[in-house]
Amino acid sequence: MDLVSVGTVAFDTIETPYGKAERVVGGAATYISLAASYFTKNIGLVSVVGDDFPESELKYMQKRGINLEGLQIKEGEKSFFWAGRYHSNMNQRDTLTTELNVLADFNPKLPESYRHAKILMLGNLTPEIQMKVIRQMKKQPKLIVLDTMNFWMDVAMPALKKVIKKVDVLTINDEEARQLSGEYSLVKAAKIIHKMGPKFLIVKKGEHGALLFQGDNIFFAPALPLAEVYDPTGAGDTFAGGFTGYLAQSGRPTMANLRRGVIYGSALASFCVEEFSIGRLKGLGKREINSRIKRFGKLVHFDMP
Ligand code: AMP
Repeated sequence: MDLVSVGTVAFDTIETPYGKAERVVGGAATYISLAASYFTKNIGLVSVVGDDFPESELKYMQKRGINLEGLQIKEGEKSFFWAGRYHSNMNQRDTLTTELNVLADFNPKLPESYRHAKILMLGNLTPEIQMKVIRQMKKQPKLIVLDTMNFWMDVAMPALKKVIKKVDVLTINDEEARQLSGEYSLVKAAKIIHKMGPKFLIVKKGEHGALLFQGDNIFFAPALPLAEVYDPTGAGDTFAGGFTGYLAQSGRPTMANLRRGVIYGSALASFCVEEFSIGRLKGLGKREINSRIKRFGKLVHFDMP
């Protein structure tokens, strides 16, 4: 297995200035796996849903090469549900509802075929579950990437810090980096977070791009300036999926590869926000992905005088 992705597979209700989408497909692992599926066909998903989750959506994931052996389906139970509302500044949103449902007593069980995966992508979930997955790996993955959010920092900081110690790359947004480190300056925050464990830190800044830190070595990827952003939900997870999917097929996780991974992640995220839910992540073509990556190159290219 090239990549194992762990996270929620969920229903979301989303309100943005462009409209409302009710009980649409979402969840961190959904976005991660779909984005990664454009780079590798060897992905295993670890999650849990209730029997209310549409079979057609699961079939679609399988069609994209995502292995669902690690997805538990709980009869008579309800899938994770999240509702959020975005402000006119779409970098800000309020969580209106988080219903854990099946996630409340989820005990992940990694199928044998997942336990030697090259890359482990721990999407947003309870830190205890993320730790349980790490413990089930039989071989140390080449790279463990962890994504989390302020919700878990508020309710489970000690458990979260234990998992953070075990990962190579942490991806969080700027506010979360400040909350985790207690430092406003992102440069100082990165130094503190490195000391917590991760060799690499990715700070996501929404429409303002992403920063990759490895000590004093810093790389910046802009977000593609888009005329319309319909729904930013899942952009962070899509970024993580593009990033890890690219790394899964590109050899060693060197800083040079990670830099490229950040651009591939940003390119995939730029598609995600163009439609509600996973709409735009279905059926992307190689050509449109490559042409978007070229646009990133053009965006930051300049000649020294
Ligand atoms: P993002 O916009 O990248 O933060 O990801 C949004 C996705 O994360 C949505 O599809 C939600 O279903 C899922 N989500 C929201 N809150 C949580 C949470 N507390 N734990 C895990 N997943 C969540």
